[in-house]
Amino acid sequence: MIDLRSDTITRPTPAMLAAMQAAPVGDDVYEEDPTVHQLETTLAARFGTEAGLFCPSGTMTNQLAIMAHCAPVSEVVCEASAHVYLWEVGGIMHHARASVALLPGERGRLTAAQIAGAIRPTGNVHYPTTRLVCLENTHNRGGGSCYAWADLQAIAALTKEKGLALHLDGARIFNALVATGQRSQDYGQLFDSISVCLSKGLGAPVGSVLLGSAAFIGGCRRLRKLMGGGWRQAGYLAAAGLYALENNVARLADDHARAARLAEALRPLPYVAEILEPETNLLLFRLDESRLTVADFLARLEAAGIRASGFGGSWVRFVTHLDVDDAQLAQVITALR
Ligand SMILES: *Cc1c(COP(=O)(O)O)cnc(C)c1O
Repeated sequence: MIDLRSDTITRPTPAMLAAMQAAPVGDDVYEEDPTVHQLETTLAARFGTEAGLFCPSGTMTNQLAIMAHCAPVSEVVCEASAHVYLWEVGGIMHHARASVALLPGERGRLTAAQIAGAIRPTGNVHYPTTRLVCLENTHNRGGGSCYAWADLQAIAALTKEKGLALHLDGARIFNALVATGQRSQDYGQLFDSISVCLSKGLGAPVGSVLLGSAAFIGGCRRLRKLMGGGWRQAGYLAAAGLYALENNVARLADDHARAARLAEALRPLPYVAEILEPETNLLLFRLDESRLTVADFLARLEAAGIRASGFGGSWVRFVTHLDVDDAQLAQVITALR
């Protein structure tokens, strides 16, 4: 099977497994796991923040950050199709008990002006208090779209001026860095917290790291324990993350080039109605269902040994990743034609 459903389906390579097996470990609830510590400090240094917290999932790192940023009767501002809102089980309501102001983005991207318009006036008893803005880079539902640095700077200037916290859902931040040439170290200056996934394009089996100030991460460490996320010899998993950071970042450019080649192959096909031009490794396109329905399309791909995801309505998503090579790409293109 050629699996284009997600970049989460990758399995660790023998070299990654060897790195995991060789990892020195300890009890991470006692903060005694040297490999977890190394992963947290490595990523904090890369992103220019003070500290990091290794967690089982990106949902947990996002939700811990939102909980920690929000006092009672808060409101979170995010894009209408943001992962934190759409795909985290309503966790903003459940964990942080916060209201959400949803803004329509351009392929998931928000502007400072839009956010400024969503900030609640203070001193009015009717309103929740706007406390946090969440951005997503790359944006999943936006088809792997990336923010321009100037737009991030403008948003960060606004949130600083208004005293709001700014969180980055960076599940695919390395895809954005590779695609734009932006520097990870600069991100720590703009964001109060950053969630980075190791289990997507980087190819680790498990794990995300939350980054922020030492005080903020200290608070989140306690909230992680509250959620049952205190883990013990997690260093075996952290070792996979460290291996991925060393070996699997630069190669994301290959995934981006392959997504672009898939888009090119789709463009002339009569059953394709619209393509969101890929900026990274996510390729969203809409079928002309008068010619071919999504159900039919996915079934025919499956019969040809290829998996993809229906993405709502007439939309389909292809994701390129470390377990899809050029020979498989050629097979997919032949099947599409
Ligand atoms: C995958 C993803 C997450 C986190 O997902 P987990 O499966 O919980 O690790 C968060 N944000 C975005 C944009 C994602 O694509």
